[in-house]
Amino acid sequence: MSFVEIRDLTFAYDRRQPPVIEGFSLSVEKGEILGVLGPSGSGKSTLLRLIAGLEVPAAGAIDIAGKRVVDDVTFVPPEKRGVGMVFQDYALFPHLTVEQNVGFGLHRLPRRERRERVREALELVRMAGLEKRYPHELSGGQQQRAALARALAPNPDVLLMDEPFSNLDADLRVSIRDELAAILRQTGMTCLFVTHDRDDVEAVCDRYIVMEAGKQGKQAGRTSSD
Ligand code: ADP
Ligand code: MG
Repeated sequence: MSFVEIRDLTFAYDRRQPPVIEGFSLSVEKGEILGVLGPSGSGKSTLLRLIAGLEVPAAGAIDIAGKRVVDDVTFVPPEKRGVGMVFQDYALFPHLTVEQNVGFGLHRLPRRERRERVREALELVRMAGLEKRYPHELSGGQQQRAALARALAPNPDVLLMDEPFSNLDADLRVSIRDELAAILRQTGMTCLFVTHDRDDVEAVCDRYIVMEAGKQGKQAGRTSSD
């Protein structure tokens, strides 16, 4: 069995409407970085929300790291799925500093261990020295890296990224995508990476799928990046 295994997933926001995700299946290997391409409205964000446990499918099953997280009779809540998420708008808490943001998901750890994890995560994304800053005191690229550090700090099994570069200008996008690729390889993280941009996929991902109206389209492939 693959590290992330999705079988026959179906989901509708409104039961009177056609499903947004329909009969969707996907396997992702441990350490694999999978690109998810597809037009706006094809269900990419919804797929990530289902994996994260933010939505409940009408049918189907998801396994993460050998553990069933959802099916007809199972629902593991988001905080117990071992999933980290980075959103398009970063969703940093504006009233918390960088280190408080990154430590947010670590409240169950003893203080010393928490501090150590925060330090490691910030070092990984090259944000050491900016611990005391608030989000509004950071550039777009730094906010992006802080959000990545926050998602990685709890050491998730799977990282989900939903168009994380869409708020960055073109130049920054090119440099940060190479940084992200390096960070993900360094951690060996298993990752689903949603984007509009084929260049992102080429730079960051091992493989990609294309979503079309809630299903996996015919187009899919490997990238040349390693
Ligand atoms: P993508 O991320 O690929 O652009 P989404 O997963 O956001 O697509 O949306 C898929 C479909 O579900 C779209 O038709 C969208 O309008 C609809 N949708 C998304 N979120 C909601 C919601 N909270 N309530 C109702 N419909 C939604
Ligand atoms: Mg989306």
